[in-house]
Amino acid sequence: MVPVTKKIKVVNVPNKGRFPYCYCMLITDHVRAMIDTSCEEKQARAIAAQGLDLIINTHFHEDHIMFNWIFDKSQIWAHSLDAPAIRSLDLWKELFGFSYYGDDEIGDTYRKNIKTQSSPVHKELRDGELIDLGTVKLRVLHTPGHTRGHCSYFEENEGILYAGEITLSNFGPWYGHLDSDIDQYIKSIERCKELRPRLVISSHLGIINDDIDKRMQAFLDRIHEKENIILNELNIPQTLEQLTEKKLYYGTSRQLPHFRMFFEKVAVHKHLQRLTAAKRIASENGVYFKI
Ligand SMILES: [Zn+2]
Repeated sequence: MVPVTKKIKVVNVPNKGRFPYCYCMLITDHVRAMIDTSCEEKQARAIAAQGLDLIINTHFHEDHIMFNWIFDKSQIWAHSLDAPAIRSLDLWKELFGFSYYGDDEIGDTYRKNIKTQSSPVHKELRDGELIDLGTVKLRVLHTPGHTRGHCSYFEENEGILYAGEITLSNFGPWYGHLDSDIDQYIKSIERCKELRPRLVISSHLGIINDDIDKRMQAFLDRIHEKENIILNELNIPQTLEQLTEKKLYYGTSRQLPHFRMFFEKVAVHKHLQRLTAAKRIASENGVYFKI
């Protein structure tokens, strides 16, 4: 555990917080609460044994809700748009878009390989609500884009932002499934940037307390950089499948397992849809070209 204030700690997690883990924030106030549960199972059980009143989820993904099921005596809260997919893994799978893109087999394998289970959600959160834990008070910021119901949580008195999937990583924002929306993601990053937080807790990088404004901008810029790469590729007309093979989203430097190639395809498709709406490209019989 890394103390951030007297009552706020960040839970250390394996794999430097990378998938399937995320840095969880533990608040030991009048109400004992934790944001997300994808730490080590042993750690989750130890926290549950000490008594935890409340789990607050950022969104429905497995690397955030993994051990919700261990906290069977706690309340679980999440945004109303993501709560249904926390309650049902069938809906969870549907929102990834495996069926939509005709890739059910990949979806079934992916689902088999994750450890998580569905869990109840006792309260559905709305943007602007204040979660009063005692001294610590968390403002709910609905920051969609990664998923429709993604939330960040802001401790306004301390200037601490639990940013969730506004991770500030060099990779940039992740929008590789059906439920993602690039335009919403952009607005959400801008909203978090405007808050000028003193300290950010990123789901996958942990505590960030320097160059926050610059890093927010760089994170946002990654979207436009990837979009330009895709647009340049369309100097030669191509199909979504041809573009997917080029790994323009994840980058060519690594081998991608089957399910990541699925995410690659969806992320590129999101850009193609955005470029089409902006009338910068068009398509005919599945072949995309610049206008
Ligand atoms: Zn996620």
